[in-house]
Amino acid sequence: MSFRPAADFAAELDRTDPLASYRQQFHIPRYQDGEEIYFCGNSLGLQPKTTERYVREELEDWARLAVKGHFAGRRPWMPYHELLTEKTARLVGAEPVEVVNMNSLTVNLHLMMASFYRPTPARHRVLVERGAFPSDRYAAASQIRFHGFDPDVSLVELASSAGHRGLDMDEVEAVIRSEGERLALVLLPGVQYYSGQAFDMARLTRAAHAVGAVAGFDLAHAAGNLPLQLHDWDVDFAVWCNYKYMNAGPGAVAGCFVHARHARAFMLPRFAGWWGHDKATRFRMQPEFVPMPGAEGWQVSNPPILALAPLLASLEVFDAADMARLREKSLRLTGYLEFLLDERLAEAVEIITPRNPAERGCQLSLRITGTRSRAREIFTRLEQAGVTADWREPDVLRVAPVPLYNTYTDVYRFVEKLAQVLSTAC
Ligand SMILES: *Cc1c(COP(=O)(O)O)cnc(C)c1O
Repeated sequence: MSFRPAADFAAELDRTDPLASYRQQFHIPRYQDGEEIYFCGNSLGLQPKTTERYVREELEDWARLAVKGHFAGRRPWMPYHELLTEKTARLVGAEPVEVVNMNSLTVNLHLMMASFYRPTPARHRVLVERGAFPSDRYAAASQIRFHGFDPDVSLVELASSAGHRGLDMDEVEAVIRSEGERLALVLLPGVQYYSGQAFDMARLTRAAHAVGAVAGFDLAHAAGNLPLQLHDWDVDFAVWCNYKYMNAGPGAVAGCFVHARHARAFMLPRFAGWWGHDKATRFRMQPEFVPMPGAEGWQVSNPPILALAPLLASLEVFDAADMARLREKSLRLTGYLEFLLDERLAEAVEIITPRNPAERGCQLSLRITGTRSRAREIFTRLEQAGVTADWREPDVLRVAPVPLYNTYTDVYRFVEKLAQVLSTAC
């Protein structure tokens, strides 16, 4: 489609946007007597207006029913997490048995590695990308040490030969092939948090399996951002948080996927707790652990209902909006941002996210040319002008127009403001 750099053109795209009404379902932060330009849904998503009621209802049921709330009330707590299962499965392209919401992202990564990273002296390496999100690297390195191996030897960090331009999937595949039988686990992001690059998970999973390695993905920046087909892609496991694109609130309960192939792999080692025990016999309180089939078998504790309530509210919004339709809008919304930046600010701003829309989600990472202190100043001035984006050292501004609640006018006004700030910054 051809774009035009004009406010009335952006307004026209908003008028004809079939998903436009979803913005009204969210609390948009205020700026002066209007609304902020909120491009930070990749860090903390906005609050759906239904969230408060969902939390309040659980507080009321707790007050009214106390312990009986486990079995009575609007949404009994004992099976509460099951209310989320099918919606979560649709979101990531999974069968219901393959998903569960529990813990937080890094905790789930540890639980998955406890089962799926089983190094031997011959096969002990873990492949991550250089510049991985620190928590993932800490988790991987600590798991390697936990098994008595040395991260200097066992942690393989893939660097891009083209600097910040992202990783070439041919190169990644070649490294997987050359690591071969030394490789135990490929642990890569669905969307890289810094560059915004989307990885070809189907291809990487095939490459990992071809050398006998496990394929695990961190979907922190992919869940709620891209349509996913984890089951068909044959991914072994995946973990994600629900407070970024998933809008389930700060520190939200996280997601976890375990492929159906492993649903009955009861011989796998796992760090067990009573909530992973077969629910039919859990309350016989027997000493032997009998895991439930599927992802639920990795649950450890009974879930925090007050924290699951916002996730339920959010999943209902995603279910209604539909990931395929969101992606369609997202391609156009981010495409419009890219168009305006190229049209107006090509000298001052370098887009380091891949130019191919198939290789990115909604986020564009922008390198501000000039000194670091100037780049930092530009970020601060944008904030003062009512733009919430995200700053990453040393000189990158991450902006994420989110199709659920951002508009084409947001995009247009953002570029206006950035142009203003750039022309006046020293
Ligand atoms: C946001 C993010 C995390 C955060 O981890 P928590 O356990 O939720 O604190 C981890 N990894 C990646 C890649 C992220 O983007």
